[in-house]
Amino acid sequence: MKDNLTQLDNRETFFEILAEHIVSVHNNKIKFALLVIDINRFERINSLYDYSVGDLVLKQFTQLLSNAKREQDYLARIGDNRFALILVDILNTGHATLAAHKILRLLKTHFEIDDNKVLVEATIGIGLCPIHASKTLKLVKECEAALKSARQQKESIGIAAVSNNDELSLLRELELDIEEALHNREFAVYYQPKLSLHTGKPVGAEALLRWNHTTRGFISPSVFIPIIEASGFIKPITGWIINSVLRHSSRWTEKWGPLSVSANITPELIFKLDLKNFVTNALNLWGSDNITLILEIIERSFVEDTETCFAILKELQLMGVHISIDDFGTGYSSLAYFKLLPINELKIDQSFVSDLVKDKANAKLIQLMIELGHNFDLKIVAEGIEDKATFDTLAAMGCDVGQGYYMAKAMPEKEFENWLETFNGLPD
Ligand code: C2E
Ligand code: MG
Ligand code: MG
Repeated sequence: MKDNLTQLDNRETFFEILAEHIVSVHNNKIKFALLVIDINRFERINSLYDYSVGDLVLKQFTQLLSNAKREQDYLARIGDNRFALILVDILNTGHATLAAHKILRLLKTHFEIDDNKVLVEATIGIGLCPIHASKTLKLVKECEAALKSARQQKESIGIAAVSNNDELSLLRELELDIEEALHNREFAVYYQPKLSLHTGKPVGAEALLRWNHTTRGFISPSVFIPIIEASGFIKPITGWIINSVLRHSSRWTEKWGPLSVSANITPELIFKLDLKNFVTNALNLWGSDNITLILEIIERSFVEDTETCFAILKELQLMGVHISIDDFGTGYSSLAYFKLLPINELKIDQSFVSDLVKDKANAKLIQLMIELGHNFDLKIVAEGIEDKATFDTLAAMGCDVGQGYYMAKAMPEKEFENWLETFNGLPD
């Protein structure tokens, strides 16, 4: 049912739609974020002006929100001055926060109502399914609690806490399953191709870990990687991944010449001495001149002990390993570090890439990142390219390498070899 004033779905219909989204998460198809958005001090608008002004504000606010959201997202009005927005395909809280900031930016305007200029601001509470909750009411409550505590701390955005008992017990259960999963070979390394945006040809692949759980099926890495990290298994598993990627890729290059292969490295692992030893041993065993091993790290890695981190990365570079900054643009590192960073590649986060063609501000940010990177002789990779228009735009902007569903999803090793074998240019 629709809300009369805004023509958005009302609270009741919203809960039905939310339940449908939760079901698809359980099928491990998509992850999503729920944003509960409140207009600040709405009562004040109603008391300062007429109720009709309040109604107009709600209508205009609805319009702005509808414009700010992506086509695939879902918006409803769930209270007097409260809206709910479901953002699909959100990988982590960083992505959701970035989206929330963007929405706040677009919402923050003076509403011209008759002759009145009304300043309207909003607060957003964010919850992710299944990380924060996987039941409708619980998820909404988590978002509302996050919103309330943000407001108390005079912040504009709040994120739900992972405190749900259901979720905790699921996480604990998964943690207990890891050892057996290793034993049963439920983990596999998948490869997602990376293509040159200059030539359209494959230049390498990123290794992405997959867990095909015996009873739960494929579990999303954004759920199980944090568990593996917390469990201590991340060390042996990353070691196994590095060995696997070098072993597999040494086979590809026999046929297809020089390629790169990237592995994701959890921040804490950089500081473990074994990483360097491990990489050395693996390179001795499987390394070839035709393979460039790229280690993808995130900005958070060098926030704590910058000096040590830089020293380790430099040593790895001396061994011929390339270092890439993953999810670039979503972290909080200072630009002052930039000139000192021992890195070879910047991977622009997919939250910038996904609506590049529609969002002029994101396009400008990407252009800046490309120029910044090129000034420091870095290769620029864009991840999350889902269509030809985005691919072409990035190529025209001078971005070097691209990765995304438009080219191919991550696939098992044999399938990747087959993809290389049969690759015959991109579709139109
Ligand atoms: P990431 O390293 O930034 O990897 C890119 C993610 O974006 C992958 O998700 C990939 O499947 C997805 N992706 C690629 N192209 C597109 C696209 O066009 N559209 C959309 N919507 N998504 C796209 P995945 O495999 O679910 O991995 C999520 C994250 O989990 C990774 O983000 C990485 O941070 C972590 N991860 C995955 N494998 C490993 C691993 O072996 N070790 C560690 N430490 N982390 C890993
Ligand atoms: Mg990565
Ligand atoms: Mg990334």
